[in-house]
Amino acid sequence: MKLVFLGTASSKPSSDRNVSSIAIHHNREILLFDCGEGTQRQMLHLVKQSRISKIFISHFHGDHYLGLPGLLMTMSLNNRSAPVDIYGPPGASTFIDNLLHSGYMDIGFEVRVTEVYDKKIAGEGYCVIPFPVDHGIPALGYVFVENDRRGSFNVSKAMALGIREEMFSYIDRTGSMVVDGSLVTLQEVTGPPKKGIKIVYSGDTRPVKFPDEAKAPDILIHEATFISIEEKGDTYHSTVLEACQTAKDIGAAQLVLTHLNSRYEHEELEQAAQLYFDNVCIAKDFLTIEL
Ligand SMILES: [Zn+2]
Repeated sequence: MKLVFLGTASSKPSSDRNVSSIAIHHNREILLFDCGEGTQRQMLHLVKQSRISKIFISHFHGDHYLGLPGLLMTMSLNNRSAPVDIYGPPGASTFIDNLLHSGYMDIGFEVRVTEVYDKKIAGEGYCVIPFPVDHGIPALGYVFVENDRRGSFNVSKAMALGIREEMFSYIDRTGSMVVDGSLVTLQEVTGPPKKGIKIVYSGDTRPVKFPDEAKAPDILIHEATFISIEEKGDTYHSTVLEACQTAKDIGAAQLVLTHLNSRYEHEELEQAAQLYFDNVCIAKDFLTIEL
């Protein structure tokens, strides 16, 4: 599994940061979280757009979705035939329908839009759970949860039950097999299941209570638009400290801050964050995290 930050700027692009987008590679599938303007160009060397199956939009401020029409058009020019699923908060259907009718766009595949609130979205080997956040307009955060993976083969136990190494892939597929007249199950010859990876993305939000499903993630990706509370004023965003506080509240193992204001230097953000949370990193465009 791999996480690629395609855009880490708040509101508008700067010379070294594009606006919001994050790609999660899971098996052969790519899930895109937000798609600011210019996202398709950011993808060129790192993300195969033909593998994108689902796009999750956190909210409909321009810096989070204006890359959609260009991306969909390019997919169509590349002769895509598989449908694309787009998920977003209430209003998504109208906004995306307007986008797709804003010119002579001829998309040659199905674009399926689903408005979501907090209902789980099932995928192959994972699920995504949206949750409402506080951004002054309908806005969502998302929890990506990978299904638990089976434990490793216990070779000596398997051998004792008559399962030789060349049979591992067979029993892995079927879940059980008969050896010398007795049934052996996969659970008998493997260790305890390994916990699936959990990633939480805040979208844009003021500090808000995250749902139970968001607890104890491997990574929390949180917006940190401001450093000081004075600069933040009454905007519907979070400061570095507030993002760190949320990471502590939900027991995140690692925190990655994004949606960064160009007024701050990278080191300035890093120093501010390290005061409040140990395992924290400031995202940069093209930052890649292997999991
Ligand atoms: Zn916003």
